[in-house]
Amino acid sequence: MKRKLPWKPTVKRALVCVILLAMPVRSAPPHAPRQSQSSPLSDNPRVRAALDWFTPNISWINDQQARLTEIPAPPFQEAPRAAALKELLAEAGLSVQIDKAGNVIGELGGVNGKEIVIVSAHLDTVFPAGTEVKVHREGSRMTAPGISDNGTGVAALLALARAVRFARLKLQRTILFVGDVGEEGEGNLRGMRALVDTYRSNLKAVIVLDGSSTDHVTTKALASRRLEASITGPGGHSWSDFGMPNPINALVRGSVRFISTKVPASPRTTFNIGQIEGGTSVNSIPHEARLKVDIRSESEDELTRLESALRECIAAGVRDEMDSARDRSKGKLEWKVELLGSRPGGELASDSPLLAALRAADELVGNVSRIERSSTDANIPLSMGIDALSIGAGGNGGGAHSLQEWYDSAGREAGLKRTLLTVLGISGVAEEKSR
Ligand SMILES: [Zn+2]
Repeated sequence: MKRKLPWKPTVKRALVCVILLAMPVRSAPPHAPRQSQSSPLSDNPRVRAALDWFTPNISWINDQQARLTEIPAPPFQEAPRAAALKELLAEAGLSVQIDKAGNVIGELGGVNGKEIVIVSAHLDTVFPAGTEVKVHREGSRMTAPGISDNGTGVAALLALARAVRFARLKLQRTILFVGDVGEEGEGNLRGMRALVDTYRSNLKAVIVLDGSSTDHVTTKALASRRLEASITGPGGHSWSDFGMPNPINALVRGSVRFISTKVPASPRTTFNIGQIEGGTSVNSIPHEARLKVDIRSESEDELTRLESALRECIAAGVRDEMDSARDRSKGKLEWKVELLGSRPGGELASDSPLLAALRAADELVGNVSRIERSSTDANIPLSMGIDALSIGAGGNGGGAHSLQEWYDSAGREAGLKRTLLTVLGISGVAEEKSR
């Protein structure tokens, strides 16, 4: 949704603006005044110049999004995309490094360099190596795996850095523009974990850009766990060894028990068997079978209960299979359930300065957004009590995690302006000496 920003600078307001901008961010009122037609931020000519940078540069931003999306970034193989982003952030005038985890970090020093705000977009996709990632374009619409999730976020990161540098904005706090690794699948948020670990003592806020749209703000981190159950046995011939315990049979028996587990509607709790594999041929009794389960809940207690249920069900499945085996002489079944990853939960306080900055930005661009609970990079800082939120970076998208994924850049300016205003709202704009 595109709407004109109401700029009506007056001398008096400009004065107020200078005073307000010089104030520490934490002293801002927790709730943005709903009736305001203008704000200190929007009255600042440099902020306006940064906001105005987006519209004439939309096609450049779209081109970068397509280019970066066409560099494959499967889980644990983000390096080539990271290298390309490093170059682009350096061209934007940031000092850029790649950390041990593989995160690209572009730094824009603030007046108070000790206080840090991270703006991040994950680099990785869910798509395995070899997936066709060519971007097909038709007008403002682009189609390719990963184009929206998270081509949109990565392109926005770059656009924000460019806009801020173009306008020569001087900020109170240091901003780190980060393309981070390991958000999807079994990455287990390792990039964000490493970032928070490194900057924890100075980290004031984390703004995560993930996907498109401007209709939501994720302030509640959905807790999840990913588990793998595996069963092994001696294996044998389908005919001559018939009657031996079969790991696939045991896994199926255990799975049937597990999927009958009752979960509450509130707190909302879900489970999904997402992958199942095992065996080597149709006429062999397999020696191994595995499945992967994703469990999510608004309550950590429910997660713990579901994880125990999975262990009990797999154990029972193995027991059932052993009990019904005719021939136990060649060995028995072994089983284990391992934690592949866990995302801790958490929540941003409703009176946090970061949420106030987002609300003020929404108001300025004429956007309305709803609070959401979701599982994102923001889980890590939120679980540690660090202010964080995750938003879409504008435009529209769909078919995330599918080969038909698409992105339409129409109206993406609103998302970029909203994001920039949120970042500036929490980083603070430094007072200029000669005005
Ligand atoms: Zn994503």
